[in-house]
Amino acid sequence: MKKSLKRRSFLRLGALTGLASGISLPGFATDKVKSGTSAGVQRYVTLGRTGLKIADISFGSSRLRNGEEHLVEHAFDQGINYFDTAESYTGGRSEVVIGNALKGKRDKVILATKMAVGTRTRSDTIMHSLEESLRRLRMDYIDIFFNHSVNDVARLKNPEWSEFVDKAKQQGKIRFTGMSGHAGHLAECVDYAVEHDMFDAMLLAQNFGEDPSFYERMTRSFDFVANQYKLPPVMAKAKAKNVGIIAMKVLRGARLNDMRPYEKGGATYAQAAFRWTLNNPNVDAAIVSMTSRDKIDEFLGASGTTAVTQEDMELLEQYAQLTNMTYCRHACNDCEGACPYGVPIADVLRTRMYATDYGDFSFAKSEYNLLEGSASACLTCDGSPCRDACTHNIPIAELCGPTHQMLS
Ligand code: SF4
Ligand code: SF4
Repeated sequence: MKKSLKRRSFLRLGALTGLASGISLPGFATDKVKSGTSAGVQRYVTLGRTGLKIADISFGSSRLRNGEEHLVEHAFDQGINYFDTAESYTGGRSEVVIGNALKGKRDKVILATKMAVGTRTRSDTIMHSLEESLRRLRMDYIDIFFNHSVNDVARLKNPEWSEFVDKAKQQGKIRFTGMSGHAGHLAECVDYAVEHDMFDAMLLAQNFGEDPSFYERMTRSFDFVANQYKLPPVMAKAKAKNVGIIAMKVLRGARLNDMRPYEKGGATYAQAAFRWTLNNPNVDAAIVSMTSRDKIDEFLGASGTTAVTQEDMELLEQYAQLTNMTYCRHACNDCEGACPYGVPIADVLRTRMYATDYGDFSFAKSEYNLLEGSASACLTCDGSPCRDACTHNIPIAELCGPTHQMLS
C-alpha cells in the first residue's frame, strides 16, 4: 500500500456517536455572534516575538490593482493596520497602490512584503528585490520581510538569506523576518525553520479544511480525509518559541457566492471561516485578499470573535461538501512524485483555484507562469500514472490539463 494511503485517516463521521447536527459540541459556543455590517476592527493581537500589534483580520493584497487605493484607504479607516504584499503581486502594482494609499501614514501601519528566495539566490539579489519593493512602496523600511512561498527545506538552507538579513537589519531596511508557505512540505519547512530559529513570524495556509480537528468535529455523516496532521504540532512548536503566526487561505477557495443561499441568521460563510481559524490558539491573526469594500466590511464582521457557533459549523460543512472533489489541499502534497513528467500538481491546482474559485484569471495566469514546471505534459498523457495519487480523490488529470490550456 502506498505510504500516503497507509496514513490515510478516513472519518466516517456518522459513526462517531453523538455527532448529529444540532447537538451541542464541546468547545463550541452556543451564543449567536454579531455579524453583518462591520463596526471595524474589534481586536488587535500581539504578533509573537515581534511585539507588533496588528488587526486580527488584516489586509492581503495579492489581487490589488491600479486605481484600488480606495480599498486600502477603506481598510485603514476600518482600523486595519497590517498590510501584506509581495514583489510578485500584480506585477509590483500591489506595492505601488499600497504605497500611494498609505502615504503619510507610515507610523500608523505595519507593512510586510516578500520575495521567494531560492536555493541559489544571492544575498545581493535579495537586497535588490527589497530595495525595489521599498521604491514601489515609497517607504524607508519594511516591518516584516518574508521569504515567500517556501516549499522546500533546501531553500531554507541557503546561507545567503541570513547574510542578507544581517545587512538589511544593519541598514535599517527591515525590522523582522518571516516565511510564508502554502505548498508541499509545509510542515517540514516550518519545523526546520523553527528548529533553526530562523524567523520572527510565519504566514501559513490554514483553514478549517486543513485542520484535522475540523473533521473530528463535523456533524454530518460523509467521508473525508483528515488533512495536514503534521502541521498543528509544528505550529504549536513555533508558538512555543513565540513566533508570530498569521493564517492565509482562510476561505479555502473563497467561493462566497456559492454559499449565500445557505447563510441564515446574519452570519456569513467567510465570517464562520475566520472564526474557525482565529479560534486556533496557535494562530495570532489572519489575512485575506480584500477585493471590495463590501467584502472588507463582511470580513471584519468576524473581527474580535473567535467562538465558533453551531451555525458556523453547518456553513463550513456545507462548503466542505460543495468543494471537496475539486479543492486541492495544496500543502498536503500526497501526490508528490506521482507524475513521471514532473508536473507540479499541487502548485498547478493552486493556480487553478485562483481562476475558478477566486474568479481572478489574470492573477491565476501570472502565478501559473511563475511555476518552475507546468502541466503541459497532461495534454498528451492518458492520466494513468496519477489516477489514484490524490488521497482526497481529486481527479488530477481532469483538472491539470485544462488548467494548462487555460493559463499558459
Ligand atoms: S495527467 Fe499525466 S502528465 Fe498530468 S499530472 Fe497526471 S501523470 Fe502527470
Ligand atoms: S492533488 Fe490531492 S494529494 Fe495532491 S496536493 Fe492536492 S489534495 Fe493533496
